This record gives sequence, structure tokens and C-alpha cells, in this order.
Amino acid sequence: MDETKFNKMLYAIAVGLYEKERCDKYVYSNHLMYGLNMLSALAVQNHQLQMLAELHESAFLEKYATRPVKEWFLGWDEVFFEKVSCFPLFQTDALITLDDGYSFHITEECSDLYKDAEDDLFKALEQRIVYHKMKELSEADYTAVRRFIIEHPVCTDKELRKFKRIHPTKEIQDVIDMAYEAIPQESYLCPQCGWTMRFHGNQAKCCNFSCTAKHPVPEQLTLLDTFENKRLKHGVMRYICLPGKLELEIKQKAEKYGCKTILWPEKDRYDIQIMLPDGSIWAVDAKMYRNPYALANAIKADEAFETVAANKRFYVVPTKREFPDYCDICNDVLKDKLVQCITDHELYQMLRKVKVNE
Ligand SMILES: [Zn+2]
Repeated sequence: MDETKFNKMLYAIAVGLYEKERCDKYVYSNHLMYGLNMLSALAVQNHQLQMLAELHESAFLEKYATRPVKEWFLGWDEVFFEKVSCFPLFQTDALITLDDGYSFHITEECSDLYKDAEDDLFKALEQRIVYHKMKELSEADYTAVRRFIIEHPVCTDKELRKFKRIHPTKEIQDVIDMAYEAIPQESYLCPQCGWTMRFHGNQAKCCNFSCTAKHPVPEQLTLLDTFENKRLKHGVMRYICLPGKLELEIKQKAEKYGCKTILWPEKDRYDIQIMLPDGSIWAVDAKMYRNPYALANAIKADEAFETVAANKRFYVVPTKREFPDYCDICNDVLKDKLVQCITDHELYQMLRKVKVNE
């Protein structure tokens, strides 16, 4: 199995798990089936026939999806194991955690895979449709809409009407209508991300695994009026709004240190252009991957960013990471490129120094 196929198998499984998690009722996922069929074929090729009995959905969830990917292949042929262990996505951690016998949460790693699933097989994903519609807007409209989405995970009808009044083109209205949806009954405001938190028994669910880490209970939260409010669709929230918070923070800090900034220049060729007081330009792409190997996999083929016109180019990741050598792992794949991976704190320190030396 080559790396492209291996990745495709994991992407299909991640997309399938994402689809299943979002539905309250049992849902059959073609994507999950597709991924499990690829895994079954791999097991047959490698004479792992005992595994086939465990590749129906419920056994897969329990025995494989809850464990790191590398453990799926323990005891397999050494040559095969050695080959796949070189693929960055082989380092993917568990894809789900089981809440109880009936439901599960996808992990951030699974969610990151879902985002990177670039393939015709996955092109109908809702955030992609919204994103492509946004890209058809003029540069100024694109920035206005994207910023509005990031700042309004949940939004009153009144605010939506006001935004549409200020931007009266049909194209903008279509994007906004496509990005937002009605809020289901019994939804609470998530104190962490600002989207909707819902409960299945005692189990809280939001758009992101970390929202529920502190085990919130309904009594501590604000119940949302479902008539007055709309929310972003799940994929738009997870993949456009959430990463946008880091982008806006970087913009704000850079301006605090006396720099000028442009968000999503050249219609999102990258995230933020920072113009220093001395006139030099730094290009920043903010990246939110939990696992550095997933980011390494995503950036190793990214030639677009290193050709951006700038004096320095940085991938910036949030500092709070379980992986102390996070940036080193990414910089390993960047060593021949004109791009460096740094944390947000390192970026802020560098900007502060520029301000002090001014
Ligand atoms: Zn949340």
C-alpha cells in the first residue's frame, strides 16, 4: 500500500466517524464503509484474516478507533510495518473516545484528518461549499464575510439582517444563508467556543472535543432562544470559525506592537500579512492541528506558501501542546523550504523585540 492510499483510507474512516458522531440517531456512513473496506483489503493482503471479524462497525469503533493507528498494525509483517511507519499519518492518535456503550466523540486528530480529506470522494462537505462560494466574492467582501463568521458562531436574526443590509449583494446573502442554520431545541451557549452545546444524557457535545473537557452541566450554561438565534453549520464552525480565532488574535497582537496587518491577503492565499515598522513583510499561516505529524503531512506538499512575496514566512501554532518538540517535527519537513514553524508566543516575542528596537 502506498502512502496516498494509506492516507485515503484514514481520511475515509475519519470522515465517516465525523458523520456518525454528528447524527443523534444511527446513520449508515458510506465513507466509513469505504475506509473499512480498504482496511479489510489490506488485512487480507497481509494475511491478517483474524482481523476481518473485527472490521464490522461496532467492533471497529471499540477495538481500533479508540486506539492509536500504529497499534492497528501490531504483529503484522515487519517489512509492511516498517514501510507504513514512515508515513506521517501513521502517527495519528486514537480517532474517537467512547462515552458509554452507545455514543462516542471524535478526537481533534480525527477532526483534523476530516479537514484534510482532499478528494473528489469528499467534495460535498458543507464547509467546502461555503468556502468556495466565499472565494467567488471580491477581496473586500470575502474579508468582511469571513470576519463576520468568525465573530458570530451564534447570531441573532437581527444581527444577520443588519449584516445583510450593510452588504446587500445577492452573493453575500447566499453565502450567509448557506453558512447558518436553525438551532435545535435544548441548545446552550458553549462557554469555550461560542457555538451550541447540547446534551445526550449527561454527555455534553459541541463542535470540538476540548469544549467538553471540563464536563459542563446544563445548569451552568445559558439556554439559547431557538427562535431568535441561528448558528453556523457544524463544518463551518469547526473549520472556518475556530481556526479564525487564532488568526484574529495574531492580527490584534501584531497591531499592538505597531505593525500593520492584512487578513487573508490575495483572497486567502495565506492568513495574515504583517508589515513591520521598518517596511519588511512577514507572512503568517496559522495552523491548529493537534498532532504535529498531521501538520507535517499537510505542509510538506504546500508549495504555495513558500512562494508568497515576503521577507519571512511562518506557520504559527498555538503554544499549548502535548508535544514539546512540535515545531521541530514540522521544521524537519520544512528544512529545504523558505518557511519556518513557530509557536504564537515565539511570534509575539519577535514582534515585541521589533517594537523595543524601534
Ligand atoms: Zn464549544
